[in-house]
Amino acid sequence: MVTSTSNSLAGRTIAEIRKDFPILERTVHGNKPFIFLDSAASSQKPIPVLEAMDHYYRYSHANVHRGVYEVSEEATAALEKARVKIARFIHARQSKQVIFTRNTTEGINLVAYSWGSANIQAGDLIILTEMEHHSNLVPWQLLAQRTGARLEFVPVTDDGQLRLDIYTQLLEQQPKLVAFTQMSNVLGTINPAKAMIAQAHAAGAVVLLDAAQSAPHLPLDVQELDADFVCFSAHKMLGPTGIGILYGKKALLEAMPPFMGGGDMIRTVKLHESTWNDLPWKFEAGTPAIAEAIGFGAAVDYLNALGMDTVRQHEQEITTYALEALQAVPGVTIYGPEASLRGGVISFNVQDVHPHDLATILDQEVGVAVRAGHHCAQPLMDRYDLAATARASFYIYTVKEEVDILVQGLQKAQQIFH
Ligand code: PLP
Repeated sequence: MVTSTSNSLAGRTIAEIRKDFPILERTVHGNKPFIFLDSAASSQKPIPVLEAMDHYYRYSHANVHRGVYEVSEEATAALEKARVKIARFIHARQSKQVIFTRNTTEGINLVAYSWGSANIQAGDLIILTEMEHHSNLVPWQLLAQRTGARLEFVPVTDDGQLRLDIYTQLLEQQPKLVAFTQMSNVLGTINPAKAMIAQAHAAGAVVLLDAAQSAPHLPLDVQELDADFVCFSAHKMLGPTGIGILYGKKALLEAMPPFMGGGDMIRTVKLHESTWNDLPWKFEAGTPAIAEAIGFGAAVDYLNALGMDTVRQHEQEITTYALEALQAVPGVTIYGPEASLRGGVISFNVQDVHPHDLATILDQEVGVAVRAGHHCAQPLMDRYDLAATARASFYIYTVKEEVDILVQGLQKAQQIFH
């Protein structure tokens, strides 16, 4: 069991914080401590999140928005309170700008269908980047196929940064939309979102920011960034699966047609026509993920108590330590930029060991969970002429000792394949 660390977060030691995550106490493959280095795929959940959802289901569950009885009103209030917490977390002007979705993917699809169908025509340009997750690529491909729009891509450099010179050139073609990730889930690169958004606006484009990897790890201020749309998922930031948000500027959201039709999103319905509810409910058809929204609110409370600057600082420390430790292992290739330009994600390969074999050995030999594959970024793999990489990713509960065990595991894999 990993217990020792000199680190602390907001006055609490990491050892204390780890106690909030019961799963970190389990073992795998017999008696090996579970070393979880896959938070970029989905983070673990602290007790306050589990308890908030449990409490809701035990004592306050009823469907929302329609009931006039006490418990339904309580459930509605809890759902809407969670929305307010999330709006404050990202510094949105109004909570009605926060629309609950299933995840980042659904938020991006919502914009691609609703805003895209109303605003994109044949020949229009959409700018993306080569480092996008499939979630921020395929919806735009579908939109381009439906409308005849063009897609152009900002290339990445050998060390995993965007070619901002080419971005500037592409903007001269007056795109309608620019969509990019604030932080790469493969390279860890943190993109200069604020400057890129300002440039896109100067060129007349609307901007969607994929914050799936940044919202869990960096302070996020949507007003300061001036992003038009921002999407992220609760499950990567201590919250439950099945819920995320789309933030949008009010005028854009109000002008957009609904994405899905059904209950809750309407004001009036006649047999042949309907009118729409106000924001945010216009985009929330059907019974929402109520317990998940409440859990998301509790996750945001937990992150706020730590402070996002502190979260970032801890991850930078761990990432710097891990980069140095991995670089010292002969035969290891690391992808992406230097420590100061990245979040807590490190993709790497070990010479002569396939990443899938490596991940299996790490799991079985030393109980380390890492991801292996294309990480839903096949075009980025193509860019580096790779079929796959292994990826270790960190969060508030990661300690240096876990990185040491990862390194020991790599050395074991090298011995096995020697
Ligand atoms: N965008 C990025 C950068 C991601 O890392 C991910 C998930 O890994 C997504 C989008 C999609 O998130 P979700 O699967 O929660 O919709």
